[in-house]
Amino acid sequence: MINQNLLEIRKRILAACSRAKTDPGLVTLVAVSKGRTSEQIRQAIEAGITDIGENRVQEASLKYKQFSPVNRGPSVIRWHMVGHLQTNKAKDAVAIFDLIQSVDSMRLASEIDRQAARINKIQDILLEVKTSPEAAKFGIKPEDAVEVLKKISALKNTSVKGLMTVAPITDKPEEARLYFRMLRELRDKIYELRVAGCELRILSMGMTDDFEVAIEEGSTMVRLGRAIFD
Ligand SMILES: *Cc1c(COP(=O)(O)O)cnc(C)c1O
Repeated sequence: MINQNLLEIRKRILAACSRAKTDPGLVTLVAVSKGRTSEQIRQAIEAGITDIGENRVQEASLKYKQFSPVNRGPSVIRWHMVGHLQTNKAKDAVAIFDLIQSVDSMRLASEIDRQAARINKIQDILLEVKTSPEAAKFGIKPEDAVEVLKKISALKNTSVKGLMTVAPITDKPEEARLYFRMLRELRDKIYELRVAGCELRILSMGMTDDFEVAIEEGSTMVRLGRAIFD
């Protein structure tokens, strides 16, 4: 089942990349496994998944332990935090996640930096941008992104790798296009301004209902739950 789903998804990713004229090797597939069992995650890993996304720190910690290096098999799994992160959970998040995608305030970034410094880690993060007023409850406003990025780039134990957004839920994927385009244009603008220390290679956008449109608009990281596990 998961195997079949993944075969289908990979075909669709390839087709979207070909329409967008991008190299499929540049698009990372993150399996979002919130609410799924460890057995389901294991099957996804066996089917080639290397990136796992979770939206709660506690649930992620339990699963992370079960897939500790000895149990992971030959591949190395990267863990992604995709849900809203409360400042008081930053410590636990920094302990397990390779990429925290949902950084939506300077306050949270500072606390992540402080916790990362304590364990001698450089924590990779994405800045979550609220591209639509009605979609996600979280994310910084596009007009504040440059200011926040400038401040974050001064943090020593935090490295901003890109931007993330969640488009409004709709059964018409085309309606999400404008939000994805907005995120890409924001990234391009930040490039032009040469905000210190920000490479922003990652554009994390696209979920089950809209990942093909997201890839057409330049996504380098799609976060899929239902398409893989349902
Ligand atoms: C749940 C979730 C996903 C995956 O959603 P699907 O629609 O099941 O693909 C992606 N990103 C975030 C932030 C999520 O919370």
